[in-house]
Amino acid sequence: MIAENLREVRENIARAAASAGRDPSEVTLIAVSKTKPVSMLMEAYEAGERVFGENKVQEIMDKYDEMPSDVNWHMIGHLQRNKVKYIVDKVKMIHSVDSLRLAETIEQEAAKHNVVVPVLLEVNVAAEETKFGLKPEEVLPLAEQISKFPHVSVRGLMTIAPYVDDPEENRPVFRQLKELSVDIDSKKIDNIYMNVLSMGMTGDYEVAVQEGATMVRVGTGIFGERSYR
Ligand SMILES: *Cc1c(COP(=O)(O)O)cnc(C)c1O
Repeated sequence: MIAENLREVRENIARAAASAGRDPSEVTLIAVSKTKPVSMLMEAYEAGERVFGENKVQEIMDKYDEMPSDVNWHMIGHLQRNKVKYIVDKVKMIHSVDSLRLAETIEQEAAKHNVVVPVLLEVNVAAEETKFGLKPEEVLPLAEQISKFPHVSVRGLMTIAPYVDDPEENRPVFRQLKELSVDIDSKKIDNIYMNVLSMGMTGDYEVAVQEGATMVRVGTGIFGERSYR
């Protein structure tokens, strides 16, 4: 089941990329495994998946110990500063940097481990009140501040688009994130890269790929519905 879902999602990504004249190899699929047991992650692993996304620090720590060491873990959820120390040397990328204080904490903890942590700046493009993330106009000033941190490397932008019935409704959101990244890239700030656009989830990843996503975060489409109990 999971292997089949993975194949289907990868095919959909390839088709969406081709429809926009993009090379499918530019798009990394992040299998969002939050709430799911290691047995299900292993099914995906055995089907070739090596990139997993989680949104809770404790869950990353538990699964990190149980899963093979060649898995790339992505922290995609809101990150509390007092928990940075637990994952800073375990994750490939933190997608959810949305404040200078959080970036400062990542800098301090990364320095202790002598690692450079790739991060994305989370942008609340749709200006939803309930969400974390920077306003679009806050992104450049924050990037400029973080550019001075030797142990934090900004690689791009991330957004969580609204839940919508028709994925086309999110096309302008994805387009806006892409435009913002092009704009920031054009400033040529030292130590700031805009190669990554993390956008698109189960309901809208094909539209996101058409609009330039280089990482899509798909959970339900691979592992099925989540139950929070
Ligand atoms: C849960 C989650 C996803 C995956 O959502 P699905 O709709 O199940 O694909 C993607 N990104 C973030 C930040 C998430 O928390």
